[in-house]
Amino acid sequence: MRDYPKNLEEFESRFSSDEACRDYLARIRWPEGFSCPRCTSRKAYPIGAVLYQCSACRYQTSVIAGTIFQDTHKPLTMWFRAFWWVAGQKNGASALGLKRILGLGSYRTAWSWLHKMRRAMVRPGRDRLRGLVEADESYIGGEKPGQRGRGAAGKALVMVAVEDKGDQGIGRIRMGVVPDASGQSLLNFVRESIEEDSEVRTDGWSGYRGLSAAGYRHTVERQDSSLGEKPLKLVHLAVSLLKRWLLGTHQGAVSHEHLPYYLDEFVFRFNRRTSTHRGLLFLRLMQNAVVDAPMPYKEIVKNVRGPKPGEHNM
Ligand SMILES: [Zn+2]
Repeated sequence: MRDYPKNLEEFESRFSSDEACRDYLARIRWPEGFSCPRCTSRKAYPIGAVLYQCSACRYQTSVIAGTIFQDTHKPLTMWFRAFWWVAGQKNGASALGLKRILGLGSYRTAWSWLHKMRRAMVRPGRDRLRGLVEADESYIGGEKPGQRGRGAAGKALVMVAVEDKGDQGIGRIRMGVVPDASGQSLLNFVRESIEEDSEVRTDGWSGYRGLSAAGYRHTVERQDSSLGEKPLKLVHLAVSLLKRWLLGTHQGAVSHEHLPYYLDEFVFRFNRRTSTHRGLLFLRLMQNAVVDAPMPYKEIVKNVRGPKPGEHNM
């Protein structure tokens, strides 16, 4: 499905009512028509403006049940405006900006909406990286340089994987916070992010020893002291872009607790950096937003607390 608004004018005329927004969500969520979330029956009849009742098991549902829009007290038109705005923020979205653009009374509301929308930046069951992939860890935040394998005070350890597309440069990337640089932590990230049989290039850190046994072709690139060049150029480029983005968009005011969400946003935007259509990004976010969550949405947000003092630049 490639049905999305091409510009602001189209967006505004198309999504001017909640009914129009619900119709659009239904087309995205059930592209082949209704499917009962309980019994997968394809037949349902509408009850009122919002509910559907399954003809087979009589289960009642709505197009927003189980999505990030569930239980919202705000009109869908407002949510759509928020998604449209976020899709257009190339350098990252801030809660303050969202509050202003939607005319929301509360910063907290804007902040929690932004976190819900970040969930839509990670496609459930998304494809893993493949081919030739560079992998390395990097410390983010804090003042002092990190000491490998032992953690560093005030810093978070972030794993980075980058597809090496040769002459075409960097392909897709993945980033994630890992608890430590142990073999198990690094392997967990690699398994989640990279397809088996791919060639994984690292700097030979002992934590990567298990890669071959796990089904990857492991190659090592060590520092060439005669050239003074650091190995794993692509990973270092991605990390420096991430750091610049965190500083520029969020003034570096990102707590460890929320770093995973910012990584998701950075990866989402980076992997779609050549996509010039705001409408297409909007569609992708909407598609991810209505996918049946692997766990109830309430469970996901339960673990997300509000902003902390000094964290107002998000
Ligand atoms: Zn049913």
